[in-house]
Amino acid sequence: MTADLILTNARILTMDASQPRAEAVALAGGRILAIGAAAQIEALAGPDTQVIDAKGRTILPGFVESHLHLVLGGAELGHLHVAGLHGMEALREAFRRFGEAHPDRPLLMAQGADYAMLDHPVTRHDLDAILPDRPIAMTSHDHHTVWANTAALRAAGILHGLDTPHGHEVVMGADGMATGELLEFEAFAPVIALGGEARLNLGIATGEEPSPWPDAAERNLDKAKIEAGLRHCAAQGITSMVNMDGNRYTLELLREMQAEGRLTARVKVPFHFKPHMDLSALDRAEAMSRDFDDDWLQCGFVKMFMDGVVDSRTAFMINDYPDQPGHRSEPLFSQDIFNQIATEIDRRGLQIAVHAIGDGAVRTTIDGFAAAQKANGRRDSRHRIEHIELIDAGDIPRLGALGITASLQPPHPPGAMDFPLMPTLERIGRARWKDAYLWKTLADQGAALAFASDWPVTDVSVMRGMQAALTRAPYEGCADERVGLMATLHAYTAGGAWAAHREGLVGRLVPGMAADLVMIDGDVEAIAPEALGSTGIALTMCGGRITHQAI
Ligand SMILES: [Zn+2]
Repeated sequence: MTADLILTNARILTMDASQPRAEAVALAGGRILAIGAAAQIEALAGPDTQVIDAKGRTILPGFVESHLHLVLGGAELGHLHVAGLHGMEALREAFRRFGEAHPDRPLLMAQGADYAMLDHPVTRHDLDAILPDRPIAMTSHDHHTVWANTAALRAAGILHGLDTPHGHEVVMGADGMATGELLEFEAFAPVIALGGEARLNLGIATGEEPSPWPDAAERNLDKAKIEAGLRHCAAQGITSMVNMDGNRYTLELLREMQAEGRLTARVKVPFHFKPHMDLSALDRAEAMSRDFDDDWLQCGFVKMFMDGVVDSRTAFMINDYPDQPGHRSEPLFSQDIFNQIATEIDRRGLQIAVHAIGDGAVRTTIDGFAAAQKANGRRDSRHRIEHIELIDAGDIPRLGALGITASLQPPHPPGAMDFPLMPTLERIGRARWKDAYLWKTLADQGAALAFASDWPVTDVSVMRGMQAALTRAPYEGCADERVGLMATLHAYTAGGAWAAHREGLVGRLVPGMAADLVMIDGDVEAIAPEALGSTGIALTMCGGRITHQAI
């Protein structure tokens, strides 16, 4: 058999123990044909074979991004980005220019706002002073707060308030009108809807389907946003992704794109189980898993949120928040209910991925997975916990013992990449820093690791994430939690593939597996860790097709 394409003169790290290194790889029919020494692989060239000289650069299996929000990230690429901006002047100038560039948009939406952007809490009056006559809004970098001006609040119908579920709030002022501060999704959904993105937010918000079903024109708008997201991810070397919100609509859009030749990565999309659902909703999860199960699109898992985040003190803790005695927050599912749900999902042969940030949420989740295992017997379920920002030391060995994957985000620990140390470390409290954002300690005690970004919560750049993973300084008095270069690369490739039940297809460069690979613009083993984040991606290939090329 002759090769379609050969990459040679490379430093290949295969992530496969039986042949960890190679110089060249031959691809045919979207699969890896052979991998090994340059002379042996080059012999597979025919007259039509394309040959790419890697010039000593590193080639790795295509990156597996284990936790991201593709649809939201893609949509946000078209928004105004205000991360790093401070003060009224800078904000006014940014919105003014963005408004001029987009005269027809019903909402000017900004992303990445810092809570301390102004020297006081942001109100609608601040934003009115920037643009009084057009609806404008901006989202905090953690995506848990939106600030809107009066025009946006009025257009959204929430200037005089809104009934919202517990934990979601249109903050009201002394004048009986909304202040402009909107806390959590149900409070800001009406503002998001102004921008025409309500459909794309269902996957994270309610897990329900759009109704009525979007017509072709609406689907085209949505697909264009997903395509922008896919292109952005391909430029980071990503060839597989585990989406962490979703519904059938998300998968239907991706399937249309697959048929149109626009799908440039393999995507897993979960069924999102919310507290308002009962167990029969899992029929829909099973149907999605049955209807979407090929090499490119898959469901096969259920996503749940057990708690919120540390900064807003909605993460569920075993002990009181040190800066708010008496408050531990609460889990979004009680232990009893979660045990029942986890057991039923597991019984149906599906995987479970649970967002758990506080040590209380992590324990509730582990207990639920243990209950499922007790009820159904041990199977190759690979249930996973997303984030694990705080964990009680006694729970750590239970991850490995129960076969639970720790899905972790190197950009997340305060100080590691873009997030500031405070207020997060203050909320956790100094006495618990040693139990916070553990990586190596979890791995040493048997947990499987998968690394990710949680884009658009942080930058999706794998190279920046890698730099964060390899340069993160321990908090005072705490252990060094870095796992080293090879384990980091593993967590971004083979580790992620295993956590997604995709290890037979992606994550390693082995004959017969998918021709998904990434060429780093340099020798990853020779680049100083501090320089990894500014190192480019020379080439990305998915299924044997070039999805990004910068050489
Ligand atoms: Zn997420």
